[in-house]
This record gives sequence, C-alpha cells and structure tokens, in this order.
Amino acid sequence: MTTGTPKIGPEQQLRGTTSAMEADHQTAEQPSEQPTEGATTPSVGDALLAIEELWPEALAESWDAVGLVVGRPERSAAKILFAVDPTHAVISEALDWGADLVIVHHPLMMKPVNSVAASHFKGDAVHRLIEGGCALATVHTNGDSAVGGVSDVLADAFGLEDVEPLSKSADGLPEEGIGRVGNLTEATTLGDFAGVVFSILPAVAGGVRVAGDRDAVVRRVAVCGGAGDSLFEKVRESRADVYVTADLRHHPVSEAREAAGDGRPYLIDVSHFGSEWLWLTPAAAALENVLADQGFTAEIRVSTVNSDPWDFVLTPGTD
Ligand SMILES: [Zn+2]
Repeated sequence: MTTGTPKIGPEQQLRGTTSAMEADHQTAEQPSEQPTEGATTPSVGDALLAIEELWPEALAESWDAVGLVVGRPERSAAKILFAVDPTHAVISEALDWGADLVIVHHPLMMKPVNSVAASHFKGDAVHRLIEGGCALATVHTNGDSAVGGVSDVLADAFGLEDVEPLSKSADGLPEEGIGRVGNLTEATTLGDFAGVVFSILPAVAGGVRVAGDRDAVVRRVAVCGGAGDSLFEKVRESRADVYVTADLRHHPVSEAREAAGDGRPYLIDVSHFGSEWLWLTPAAAALENVLADQGFTAEIRVSTVNSDPWDFVLTPGTD
C-alpha cells in the first residue's frame, strides 16, 4: 500500500480501480432513463437554476469563482457531464460524447485573465468548448459546503455518524460548512482505517500517506475533500483522532505533528482529485432529481478521466 499503485492509463481511465469505484463507475455509465412523456429538455439556464438550488453560490468562499464560465443560457442542455477538472482530456471526453454542458468542480479561470487566446491552454479550452457547442459551469466551494457536498460524501463513504461541519458556514444552515467530523460506528486501528480509505478512493499513483502509529485506536474522524491544511485548528477543536484530507505539505504537517501531544490527530493524506471524484456520482444524481422535479429530462454522466496529475512514485516500501 505504501508503495502506491500505478496510475491508471488514459485508455483505462478509472477502470480497474477498487470494487467500490467500479460500482460507482458502472452506475455512472448506465444510460439515463428514456425521456418520460411530457418531459422536456432543460436549457443551460434551467440547469443553472437547478445547480443554484443544490449548491447556492452564496455558499462559495469569497475568493472563489463559481457559476457559468462558457455558454449561452438559452441553449439546450440535453447531455450533461460532471468532472473534477476542466482538463484537455475531460473536454475531449465531453465533445466526443456530444455534451452540451460540463459541470466541473475546479474553476478553469480562478484569477481574472486578459486574454482567452487559443495559444494558451486555458484559452484553448474556452475555444474548444465554444466551437463544440458545449457550456462550462463550476461548482466549487459551494459544492464543498452544501449538504450532500464533497466532504459529506466522504464522511458517508467512510461510515461516519453524527456528522457536523468542521467549520460552519457563516450564513448557511448549521449542517453547511467546510469539512466534516463524525464518529465511526466502531473503533478501529489507524492502519485498518487507512486501508478503508485506500479501498474507497480511486487508485492513483501517489497512493495514501499516513502519519501516526499504525496500531493506534481511532474512532472520531475529520474529513475535508481537497486541500485541507487550513483547518488544523478546527480539527484539533473537534477532538478528532484522525484527519483525512489532501495536499498536505511539510510545514503544516510537521507543525501539526509537533503540536499533537498524544499523537492525535493522526493524518491521512489522499489524492486531491480522488477526494473530490467521489462526489461526482451523487452530485449527478441530485441534479437529475431536481431537473426531474421540474419536468426536465437530461442525460447525465460522470467523467471517467483520471485527472490526478501524478504518474508514478518511488518509495523504499514498508510492506
Ligand atoms: Zn479541489
């Protein structure tokens, strides 16, 4: 486990991952139900209203950039693809399928730009989408914070109970906010829990890294999909035994380990992409439900592109 697993090739994409992911993948790949009588195709604008109902823009962090990036609201959105990143491969997948709208977690353009010239990869993405007749929308920290959001899905996948936000949303409901903390139904060891985390997330080159005693007993678990090293103080306040997040860097981790008197919270560092990919399938189902309630039928799929940027890893190995 500590030597990592080979990155999934572009042809295989997310195939060949864990059984849980296979199940999700198969669900995601199944064609949507045929349009029911009287159902109509939503426009991009209708899809945006449904997105607002599920993941309100007001829940996004002030620094974030969410909402419609490319596209005309009045155009049809018969085929909708969910993905983590608006990468070249994801856009190719969307255009090959004939998607009308791609909903991504990460913004294509977080910072203001002066040009969308196709000579830069971001401008090229904009051009390819427009030329292919495909809109692009972002659901980022609003998707993190909402009920049923990225960290909620992780908490659910890990089997946590009595879940609450690590950092409550300033203006939202008590259940809304960044990160989640809850309890396993039964105490287990850090090593066994790390094994569960590893088995649930998609297989990526970097694997899963753990800081702490493999045999230590853990029950209270904090999670934050994506980069979560800004939440260490909240994790300590939550009295979590272990914290699962991504993108953990040397200094925040080193200081957190030094500050942990009894070793807690132990840390599990997972793939940023993997921690957020899990959300796509329930997000797609939620959007399909909201659209159906409004009498709309769209074909909705989850991307099978693995956009984790790492390709292989060398470690001394401990197994
Ligand atoms: Zn992220």
